[in-house]
Amino acid sequence: MIPFGHMIEYAIGVDLGGTNLRAAAIDRSGKMLDKISGTTNFSEGREAVLGDIVAAIRKLREKHGPEGLAGMGVGVPGFIRMKEGFLTNSPNLPYLENFPVRDEISRQLGTRVILENDANAAALGEKWIGAGRDVDDLVLLTLGTGIGGGIISGGRVLRGFVGMAGELGHITVVPDGNPCGCGNRGCLEKHASATAVTAMADMLHLGVSLTSKQVYDLAMQPGEKGEKARRIWRIVGESLGVGLAALVNTFNFPLYLLSGGMLPAWELFAPHMTRVMEERSFTYRATKSETRVAQATLGNEAGLYGAAYLPWVER
Ligand SMILES: [Zn+2]
Repeated sequence: MIPFGHMIEYAIGVDLGGTNLRAAAIDRSGKMLDKISGTTNFSEGREAVLGDIVAAIRKLREKHGPEGLAGMGVGVPGFIRMKEGFLTNSPNLPYLENFPVRDEISRQLGTRVILENDANAAALGEKWIGAGRDVDDLVLLTLGTGIGGGIISGGRVLRGFVGMAGELGHITVVPDGNPCGCGNRGCLEKHASATAVTAMADMLHLGVSLTSKQVYDLAMQPGEKGEKARRIWRIVGESLGVGLAALVNTFNFPLYLLSGGMLPAWELFAPHMTRVMEERSFTYRATKSETRVAQATLGNEAGLYGAAYLPWVER
């Protein structure tokens, strides 16, 4: 029982990843009260996944009480049509495409939910209680198997008119670069994601299916292999630099955050990234002491925090 007069206001955030589902109850101050995480049986399809989302939310709502619940947000990977609550494209969850995901979850729970792109949610989480807590404007790049992007402007997610803004992994950084699943060539994520690192290591005969960590370890060694591995991190840094220079020119924001499993290699790619930003962006050179490029601090929890924060910023 919650003592009378001590009702805690909280929200529920859900982060639907490519392989797992996590949900958390988080209070207004950003304290995580409870977290559920588990692998969903994604192969079972739409009803099973939606059923798991609803079950996780119900469990948290019952435990913490419906009285203090401010709302709920659900972060999903893919391109979203905000108004309709649809995913129009989601390589990881194709069976959720063009289905009224938001309204179906709402119907089953009997209350409103907010659907958001997972990287947008992560950017919002970093703004709320992570590395971006002191600013109202930031960009987040999540460096994983792909590259996700989220833009926070004036403390809110910048969505564009449909909800597809912030697809920063698909901005062109090499005009005739590697082909991408999106139809473009030379997308940032084809040259600076963990998948790109693995592919480059393969191409340079360093090994097959190497992880970012293994390519980092190789780069720390002397000799030809080390040289090749360092070249990979240079390409990663330069590609990020080209992308970030364009973002700095576009937004003139004070903060650009990077997150994901490649951050341990920061010392190897960041100097190249900064150099290219300086070369390519007048705005960056003119604001160098005030413009920060930094590591995000919430790790893979950022999306959970951001999803939970949505009801408070969107009301
Ligand atoms: Zn692309």
